[in-house]
Amino acid sequence: MATKTKRTSLIGALEGIVGAEFVLHTPEDMVVFEYDGSIGKSLPQVVVFPSTTEQVAQIVRLAYSVDVPIVPRGAGTGLSGGAVAVKGGIVVTLTRMNRILEIDPVNRQATVEPGVINLHLSEQAEPHGLYYVPDPSSQRVCTIGGNVAENSGGPHCLAYGVTTNHVLGLEVVLPDGEVVWLGGPLEDMPGYDLTGLFVGSEGTLGIVTKAIVKLYPIAESVRTLVAVYEEIDDASRAVSAIIASGVIPAALEMIDKVTIEAVVQAVDVEYPSDAGAVLLIEVDGLKEAVEQESEAVEAICRDLGAREIRVAETPEDRERLWAARKGALAALGRLAPNYYILDGVVPRSRLMDVLRRVGEICDRYDFRVANVFHAGDGNLHPNILFDERIPGQSERVLEAGAEIMQVCVEVGGTITGEHGVGLEKKGFMSLVFSPQDIAAMEKVRDAFSSVETFNPCKIFSTAKGCGEGWRVPTLPDLGPGSFL
Ligand SMILES: Cc1cc2nc3c(=O)[nH]c(=O)nc-3n(C[C@H](O)[C@H](O)[C@H](O)COP(=O)(O)OP(=O)(O)OC[C@H]3O[C@@H](n4cnc5c(N)ncnc54)[C@H](O)[C@@H]3O)c2cc1C
Repeated sequence: MATKTKRTSLIGALEGIVGAEFVLHTPEDMVVFEYDGSIGKSLPQVVVFPSTTEQVAQIVRLAYSVDVPIVPRGAGTGLSGGAVAVKGGIVVTLTRMNRILEIDPVNRQATVEPGVINLHLSEQAEPHGLYYVPDPSSQRVCTIGGNVAENSGGPHCLAYGVTTNHVLGLEVVLPDGEVVWLGGPLEDMPGYDLTGLFVGSEGTLGIVTKAIVKLYPIAESVRTLVAVYEEIDDASRAVSAIIASGVIPAALEMIDKVTIEAVVQAVDVEYPSDAGAVLLIEVDGLKEAVEQESEAVEAICRDLGAREIRVAETPEDRERLWAARKGALAALGRLAPNYYILDGVVPRSRLMDVLRRVGEICDRYDFRVANVFHAGDGNLHPNILFDERIPGQSERVLEAGAEIMQVCVEVGGTITGEHGVGLEKKGFMSLVFSPQDIAAMEKVRDAFSSVETFNPCKIFSTAKGCGEGWRVPTLPDLGPGSFL
């Protein structure tokens, strides 16, 4: 009874801050907020939709004062459980804060609220001849706040860098409710690079309420091509050879046979369904440079066994090729009810070897695997296809995933390239960091605030009550904490 009263008064206080229509608290209303794009679930006690920095600060102060967990959330497309309310509490959804406050074409920057959808920013910048570079495949729905928190990458980050290279300043509500600015409109502010520290902190250091980001000029010329291979090994060799030649394409993506099988069913694109793999390559820049570089890339692809090279002849062709790449994960639904997406990084020179081992591991567990990934960055995304309705598959898919992570680390790689650690990978942190490293990172977090209830149990397993690692959630159990 006492707990019920506490929850009722919490809901009342939140309604007082944002208005009753912007607070959800029944299980039916909150069901879509119990998960993100990963495979774990946990129901919050309440979901709140603030519209101003001041409201965010008041909510955070309220949660702090009553010792209730708080979890920032954007669009909920995260792939490591970062926005899952593992200990219940308040989910603060930032999607109402979706205004582009300023586009400054002279200084090539924009100031945005955290709930702005990634693609909307590029669309609004386009009339100025500018765009926002980081383009996660989820860019039609994911938010800039989520991108900042995850330091998101995307197909076009190979040449121009991931989110951290494009953020100049952040307005942030710290875990105790204080509002601060990190960085600002200028490059290279004096003092510690706290903006850089905050980017990629996975919603554990505070809530982004404004971001100043860089915009880039839309390239004068762009050439998009698909190199078709019989064997994925040859495609992997071509990736290393292209980068070694000194050409850095804007994008260099690999799509394997299983993924092609899904994509051709879902999207209007003519990827050859009998290919072992295709590389989707884009070169951009000044017209003459693009011609020269794409000729060099085509020559390397042919030398390394491409049986065919298709070049996009029109903007519509290009769009179709990209729609297929960016829709690839959704298309996997054609092949299996569930997929578990992994996110490892390996040296490009080890791609061939690691992909073979990924295939062997999945064969041993009797799972099909579809690979579609940012090959130029060595950022693998094996997607293990499974069916959670079959007893034991959810457990075994995680075991297979853990083996794949180990392989990535063994060859000199690491456990995440862009999806973050969140809940899913925290059990793997010890593969790449010593206890001393982890303790040092926790000290950094504590320097922002040692509020244990702020997005608890993410990245680190060491906080009280967070367990040692990530386990399969009990899917029918909707209660808070089903992750633990
Ligand atoms: C089909 C698909 C394709 C994807 N492709 C890519 C890809 O190519 N590259 C890539 O990097 N990722 C990709 N992702 C993963 C995901 O889209 C990104 O991580 C994205 O940045 C998450 O944004 P979001 O708004 O959905 O954040 P959420 O999932 O809501 O949250 C993610 C994390 O950010 C925190 N957070 C959210 N908003 C804020 C805020 N304002 N302040 C502080 N913390 C906050 C949350 O607490 C959580 O820890 C893909 C996901 C899907 C489903």
